[in-house]
Amino acid sequence: MQKDEVAIVKIEDIGVDGEGIGKVDGYTLFVKDAVIGDEVEAKVIKSKKNYGYARLMRIVTPSEYRVEPKCAYARQCGGCQIQEMSYERQLAFKEKKVRDSLERIGGFDAALLERVTEPIVGMEEPFHYRNKAQFPFGTDKDGRPVCGFYAGRTHHIIANTDCALGVKINKEILEQILAFMKENHVQAYDEKTGRGLFRHVLIRYGFATREIMVCLVVNGKKIPHVDELVWRLSQIKGMTSITLCPNTKRTNVIMGGTYKILWGQGYITDTIGDVQYRISPLSFYQVNPVQTEKLYAKALEYADLQGGETVWDLYCGIGTISLFLARKAKMVYGVEVVEQAVEDARENAKRNGIGNVKFYVGKAEEVLPEHYEKGGDESGAEAEGGAKAQEGDEVKACVNSRKTRPDGNAAGKAHPDVIVVDPPRKGCEESLLEMMAEMRPKRIVYVSCNPATLARDLKYLCGRGYELRKIGIVDQFPMGVHVETCVLLGRK
Ligand code: SAH
Repeated sequence: MQKDEVAIVKIEDIGVDGEGIGKVDGYTLFVKDAVIGDEVEAKVIKSKKNYGYARLMRIVTPSEYRVEPKCAYARQCGGCQIQEMSYERQLAFKEKKVRDSLERIGGFDAALLERVTEPIVGMEEPFHYRNKAQFPFGTDKDGRPVCGFYAGRTHHIIANTDCALGVKINKEILEQILAFMKENHVQAYDEKTGRGLFRHVLIRYGFATREIMVCLVVNGKKIPHVDELVWRLSQIKGMTSITLCPNTKRTNVIMGGTYKILWGQGYITDTIGDVQYRISPLSFYQVNPVQTEKLYAKALEYADLQGGETVWDLYCGIGTISLFLARKAKMVYGVEVVEQAVEDARENAKRNGIGNVKFYVGKAEEVLPEHYEKGGDESGAEAEGGAKAQEGDEVKACVNSRKTRPDGNAAGKAHPDVIVVDPPRKGCEESLLEMMAEMRPKRIVYVSCNPATLARDLKYLCGRGYELRKIGIVDQFPMGVHVETCVLLGRK
């Protein structure tokens, strides 16, 4: 088919980004906003030899899975991709997305996947679930400041202060900021010119504590009439922290590297299960607390801790999973590259009186090999909560010995019982996977937000002595196409 050609297409599949897929005389069309089961009229916007991309022009016959979106901007806004698909169908799509990746990229057998995959865990109330949102500021055609979300694949702002995924309080906060900007003639940042002050606002809300944090990301160091803005925001019930994060770089990266406290304590607290966490503006924290509790419960179940284990939690953030695990293990070591997050993690251990955990700042692929060679933690080092770090028996073995012990582990090296990893979307470095395999933990629990890199990494580990035992899928992102997976690997 050629550009601008129009055709009637029956949508028979869903692409990884939620787009509808159909065929016209053997030619594949990807149609954004079309739902599986729809019959649509679509116009080709980009054509390749065997496939093309088309725009949805008209729904001829709606799919049985098509629903009325809750948000008026669902189609334009890049925040949601599949709001017009029934939630049940979204869950089925995500389950298949994980399995397809593992089959196609990971090379796993479909029958094995069928056997080890547990039913996907969805939400009862799949809206207003996000505890965090980052809204960009812009200027509308009449010169007024606006904020909202970017339209899909562009930086055009869809003005909306009432997102259906976020918490209700976002609206009040955003409207206060916009009113302040209007009254004080404070300009929104313009990516094209690099001029203007307000770039983004990060809002976090503690679901359990109802504490609110506002972090203003600005193209500069100061906000004019800042006291007025702070006063307005501080009147909002639950506000505990207002911070300023300068970012003067001409980049897509939202946050700057540092922040300054304008008002309040500079962080919020929240609880997951019975563990309390302190969360600073620059630290990672899962965005869907209801589902996170289910995800961590799964990770804990897969780790199968009896109390005597040594565990490494790699990519630990503010120690969320580490502290969950520490309750059931002998000793947990966490590794995280963002220093601020590690500070939060250490504070969180103290807050919860958890002594058997120790955190390291650094890249997992660099910290882990050092500790393997050393045979574990520095002897007698203090654990975060003040208690002595208990070292595993294996760690006490002679450090210089090169011998292999009867259990196959290298004498003198660190051999934890369980390793948990929760990397960002790009997955783990191959050198880290190699190190993990050499450490020979009995179990590896892999928490992943990207099925493609998960599949690649599992393939590697399964070629190095591990086997796939369980797959748990938790929907952390209803209405979006992302999905979180927790996998248990066991040593063969
Ligand atoms: N397990 C945590 C955080 C997971 S997000 C939780 O559930 O909350 C991934 C984390 O990995 C982020 O905090 C990020 O800062 C960190 N990170 C990214 N690359 C890293 C690396 N090479 N080594 C260690 N941590 C890394």
